[in-house]
Amino acid sequence: MKRGELVPDALIAKIIEDLMARASGACTLLLDGFPRTVVQAQILEAATARCGATLAAVVLLDVADAILVDRIAGRRGCPKCGAGYHVTSIPSRREGICDVCGTGLVIRKDDNPETVKHRLEVYKAQTVPLIDFYGARGMLRKVVGTGPIDEIVERVRQAVP
Ligand SMILES: [Zn+2]
Repeated sequence: MKRGELVPDALIAKIIEDLMARASGACTLLLDGFPRTVVQAQILEAATARCGATLAAVVLLDVADAILVDRIAGRRGCPKCGAGYHVTSIPSRREGICDVCGTGLVIRKDDNPETVKHRLEVYKAQTVPLIDFYGARGMLRKVVGTGPIDEIVERVRQAVP
């Protein structure tokens, strides 16, 4: 993850199957950031079939590259308490200082411009093919991922059955 690369498929598959095995009765699982490759989508399809579950919808949060880069470049985190900030959208009250515990904020190692650029390349090569994969199955819901967070949340709510 520090290199901006993806977690191995076998590990992800095990985590997902364990999650589904632990879920009992009627419930809904929301997977965030998974699957990211066609192979993972096939793993998920097989796992849901084995568990007698159905995949209701796949949400694509559509955001332009430049906006993504800006969002990631502005992220700050507290190394002590884990609180998250953004220089423009969620600023701390005192610049560079955690509101919760007063510790100096840091930029995550994997949020540097080179890693972000690499992450976008990995996304285009490995994840963009899922748009066709789920589009062909009639499951893809494209949601505009810009604007106020509560509006994006509402769009996602309406996109998921
Ligand atoms: Zn803190």
